Amino acid sequence: MRIIGILNLQGDVEKHASVFKKLNAEIILVKNSDDLSKCDGLVFPGGESSTMKMMIEFSNLTNALTDFVQKKPIFATCAGVVLLAKTILNDIPTKFAKLDISVKRNGWGRQVHSFISEIDFLGKSLEAVFIRAPKISEIGKLVTVLAKIENEPVLIEQDNILASTFHPELSEHSVIQKYWLEKYFG
Ligand code: GLN
Repeated sequence: MRIIGILNLQGDVEKHASVFKKLNAEIILVKNSDDLSKCDGLVFPGGESSTMKMMIEFSNLTNALTDFVQKKPIFATCAGVVLLAKTILNDIPTKFAKLDISVKRNGWGRQVHSFISEIDFLGKSLEAVFIRAPKISEIGKLVTVLAKIENEPVLIEQDNILASTFHPELSEHSVIQKYWLEKYFG
C-alpha cells in the first residue's frame, strides 16, 4: 500500500484522513519536507488558501512541494485548487502552481452562499458540498473536465493532479477518493 500524505498546515485535514483510513490507505499528516519525502501522493485539503500559503512559507515547504507536484499524484480540494492554479483572478499564485486554469477565490459566493449540489461523475449522480468555493473561469488544453455544475467545471484532472472545487471529504460517498486511489495507486 502506498503512503498518502495530507498537508497538515490548516483546513479540513481530519476529515480527509478519516476517509482515507476507511479506504485502508496509509496516512501521513505532512507538516514539513521530511514528512513529505515519505509520501507517494499528497492531498491538499480545503481551508483558507491565503493562510496555507503563509504556513507553507513558514514551514519551508515551497521547494519540496514544487518538486512533489511535478510528478507525484496530487488530490487538491477547494483551497488546494487555489494553491495549485497558475492564475488566480483575485490573488497571487504560488511558486508550485501547476494547474493550467484561472480561478476566482470565493467565486461561487461567500460563506452564506455555501451550498450542496449534485454532480454527474462516471455516470453516477453524486452529492458535492461547496464552501466559499473557487470558481474555475478558464481551462487550458492539458485539462480534462470530469464534472460540471451550471456548465462550469468543478472536478478536473491534469497530468498527475485531480482537483475538485468542492469538498468530497464532507459527503458520505467516497467515489472521488476511490477514483484517485485506483487511478494512481491501483
Ligand atoms: N475561499 C477559500 C480560499 O480561497 C477556499 C474555501 C475552502 O477551501 N472551503 O482559500
